[in-house]
Amino acid sequence: ARAQSMEITERPAVEYEDIGGIDEQIREVREAVEQPLAEPEVFAEVGIEPPSGVLLYGPPGTGKTMLAKAVANRTDATFIKMAGSELVRKFIGEGSRLVRDLFELAREREPAIIFIDEIDAIATTRTESKTSGDAEVQRTMMQLLAEMDGFEARGEIRIIAATNRFDMLDRAILRPGRFDRLIEVPEPNQEGREQILEIHTREMNVDDDVDFESLAADTEGYSGAEIESLATEAGMFAIRNDREEVTQADFVDAFEKIENDDSSDVVASA
Ligand code: ATP
Repeated sequence: ARAQSMEITERPAVEYEDIGGIDEQIREVREAVEQPLAEPEVFAEVGIEPPSGVLLYGPPGTGKTMLAKAVANRTDATFIKMAGSELVRKFIGEGSRLVRDLFELAREREPAIIFIDEIDAIATTRTESKTSGDAEVQRTMMQLLAEMDGFEARGEIRIIAATNRFDMLDRAILRPGRFDRLIEVPEPNQEGREQILEIHTREMNVDDDVDFESLAADTEGYSGAEIESLATEAGMFAIRNDREEVTQADFVDAFEKIENDDSSDVVASA
């Protein structure tokens, strides 16, 4: 049953150089997660504990999952991904059972990185009136915290969680020894969008006239995922026009198509 809801990758195919516009966040994740896994002796010598949990927060499609995968790629750690929404179960005890399975699997595969996407699904602040469903979600979260509190003895397991809804999180999960390293992953700025465009056109046959700087300027507010769809869409226009090279005009057509489509389409393709 456990395999259905968890994604396990020995070595995810994402590298830091595939991630654009968030160099500072990469540096922080490397320090908080990669270095403790790669050089535990450094922390032992100085006599400090590395952070047990790292929380990545920011808008959808900005590279949070990529970051977690890139760390696993750089270390020998197995990448184990679970969506917070998957942990929300109907039957009593089912959610906590999944959390236990998750950590058990991580211990078997040690070193391992557990990545919990949409942590808000089990860790949002709730209203006063608790329905039984809420109580079950609460229990699942308590189980997660209990597993994290018993971490150190368990060795080389790091946990990274991600959310788009930082403001709604239950502050209990941010206490020391839990998700005590917070890293904001924002929407990319002009320079970031240029980098992301370059990354997603690396494998594309792009004409010299393509102007990344002006495309980046036009796409203010786009996430990395949306910039990726722009590049793919531009490629589609080249194919439709029977060309092997993608031109500036293709990018402009793609941009107009995306802008004119219902905005929900853009989100869906992310
Ligand atoms: P969500 O919060 O919706 O889970 P996320 O922040 O985890 O989103 P990712 O899954 O990392 O987003 O990104 C989705 C896709 O968008 C990636 O596979 C990648 O192709 C592209 N992408 C997003 N951000 C970046 C970035 N900073 N650099 C390059 N590509 C990016």
